[in-house]
Amino acid sequence: MQKLIVNINRLFGILPPDTSSLKGDEMSKVNTISNAYLLLENDRIVDFGKMEDLPESNAPRISGKQFNILPSFIDSHTHLVFAETRENEFEMKIEGKTYAEIAASGGGILNSAKKIAQYDEYSLFESAYKRAQDLIQLGTGAIEIKSGYGLDPENELKILRVINRLKEALHIPVKRTFLAAHAKPKSFEGGYSDYVKHMLEKTFPQAAQLADYIDVFCENGFFTASDAQTIIDAGKKHGLKAKIHGNQLGHSGGALVAAENNILSVDHLEFLNQNEIMGLQRSSTFPVVLPNCSFYLKMQYAPAKAIINAGLPLVIASDFNPGSAPSGNLWTCWSLACTQMRITPEQAFNALTINAAAALELEKEMGSITKGKKANLIFTAAQDNISYYPYSFGENHAEKVMVDGEFVSN
Ligand SMILES: [Zn+2]
Repeated sequence: MQKLIVNINRLFGILPPDTSSLKGDEMSKVNTISNAYLLLENDRIVDFGKMEDLPESNAPRISGKQFNILPSFIDSHTHLVFAETRENEFEMKIEGKTYAEIAASGGGILNSAKKIAQYDEYSLFESAYKRAQDLIQLGTGAIEIKSGYGLDPENELKILRVINRLKEALHIPVKRTFLAAHAKPKSFEGGYSDYVKHMLEKTFPQAAQLADYIDVFCENGFFTASDAQTIIDAGKKHGLKAKIHGNQLGHSGGALVAAENNILSVDHLEFLNQNEIMGLQRSSTFPVVLPNCSFYLKMQYAPAKAIINAGLPLVIASDFNPGSAPSGNLWTCWSLACTQMRITPEQAFNALTINAAAALELEKEMGSITKGKKANLIFTAAQDNISYYPYSFGENHAEKVMVDGEFVSN
């Protein structure tokens, strides 16, 4: 079944089929057609161009005059499955309580883990499914979801099964990540490295069937670069590529161990020096930054501009989680990337679309307006300049969204 959208005010994000990601200066441009047409067949984009070049077609027409069309955003880093929100910690944070004080009064990751253990798979699925539906209405057209709040083998596998249910139920592409080492529970007797060994021994081989990627929180005071290496190696052995958390709280070695192993991505990077940037330049690892998290924690932002200036393919993701980034709104990320990280609207757009798709190995399917790609699209009001979106912050600009060539609503 074909659909022809005509007289589209602006069609943003057009790329040739052989573009796998955009690096450095290439990120400064967003190819656009004014007064465009877009022809869809079933779930795919089959043709597009200027209205004056519209070929004859019997396909039913939809007027695009009121709209701009963009490719959907891709969110390459979320912790979407959790038991309960943590607004009770919110006021403690405002009052300036430290992470340790919040943890002592029953907050933090360890608290999330305790709650996960009390919830069954179906209730975890239901709440995460609702969150995912809301994100789709905000224009997220593909998503990565991590485990990591189980903190013991049984509960991590439980979260992975919930993520697999989400993958079946949602119509957008879902990539599943096993966050094998997020924090060490108080009840575990032994060090961080012992915990990593224990988790890997007790979760594989099942985890390999339930996940696409493996992850670790490689941070000062948590898991070391050597623990990250153990996780990366275990993933490799079982066919899971690695995407790791690194350099959020300091120069943890995460960025360097990621680059040395050419893993898929290293995410956070609030602390990133020249040596670490050079490591990334020698690798194929995607640098992923998470502006919603820096905003919410009032912590420093990753040096997104330096990453682009180093010729790297910057990616932006939400880090949606109940503690440090309780929002999966990528329009907000777009605004923060411009206002706080000082990158251009075009650079941030490319970081949220084609590069984010590549960081989930979805670049052949999504991330741009390209013949043959999935018709996962955002329809916004007819603005003339792409800068309008991050400029007019705090809004959901998606008036309609399309998944697989069909309009979807909550
Ligand atoms: Zn995270």
